[in-house]
Amino acid sequence: MAWFCSANTNHGLVNNLKKAGIFQFERVEKAMKATDRGKYVKYDPYRDSPQQIGYGATISAPHMHAHALENLAPFLRPGMKVLDVGCGSGYLTACLAEMVGPEGKVVGIDHIPQLVKLATDNVKNDRPELLESLRVEFILGDGRKGYPEEAPYDCIHVGAAAEKMPQDLIDQLKSPGRIFIPVGSNSQYIYQIDKDSDGNVTKKSLMGVMYVPLTDAQKQLRGE
Ligand code: SAH
Repeated sequence: MAWFCSANTNHGLVNNLKKAGIFQFERVEKAMKATDRGKYVKYDPYRDSPQQIGYGATISAPHMHAHALENLAPFLRPGMKVLDVGCGSGYLTACLAEMVGPEGKVVGIDHIPQLVKLATDNVKNDRPELLESLRVEFILGDGRKGYPEEAPYDCIHVGAAAEKMPQDLIDQLKSPGRIFIPVGSNSQYIYQIDKDSDGNVTKKSLMGVMYVPLTDAQKQLRGE
């Protein structure tokens, strides 16, 4: 289904995702229309597939970004705070910022300095006001440890596959709050981790996926 969503324009791509039935929340469709993927990917940006962005990273496919935003939508209301681990191109960070509005905040973290710069340059080119207003902030660091300086978060998106559930991320989640995270090495699954208002944590497997690993910077740059 997803591979048929490719188009020649950003609007065309998002309209095709809509026709495929991915959106339940109009807010997600609007956020993806407000964020031009063409400003984040050099070649064939409106193709519904993952693409290389350098330094061992890939921008996820548009249908995966749509699934992530849909899943997190209840925790992406105006004024909410979000952590985007493995921000890569910065595309999803900008979509998340669109959803939480001017009173909200999204911290994008990546462990490769060149990718932090890429994400910053891309958002500067697409939506400079998000950086100027500090609605989006990009940080260099190991995302497995989260970013305690801005915790707690209403939700956390993880854009790379963790070998095991990172406890630091669970600890930095609000009650209630949600994490969307790919977990596993050979076979990977997206997990939805929910913390309820009493602090109880539950984990639910959603779908099989293929993400680049959440790893050490040197290993990633060596292609291991
Ligand atoms: N959401 C991004 C995905 C990029 S690919 C996008 O769609 O553009 C996964 C990203 O995770 C890469 O940018 C990679 O550098 C980053 N990453 C991998 N391990 C990490 C770690 N330990 N800490 C922070 N970022 C990490």
